[in-house]
Amino acid sequence: MARPNRFYDVIRIGPVQVGSHHDGRGGTKHTAACTAPGCGFSADYRDRSAAELAARTHRCNP
Ligand SMILES: [Zn+2]
Repeated sequence: MARPNRFYDVIRIGPVQVGSHHDGRGGTKHTAACTAPGCGFSADYRDRSAAELAARTHRCNP
């Protein structure tokens, strides 16, 4: 799986990792990505709090 390699402030909430990264256009994006096998959840957010909330409320797909 390809991963952006400039994440910082990476934390883990359950199976979900949240990391921030610069988008190359002067902005910052926050990504929540689930590491559980077969889940595949991954999403970008404009707010760190939104990404952490998504991680906290994430439930893996069966
Ligand atoms: Zn998941």
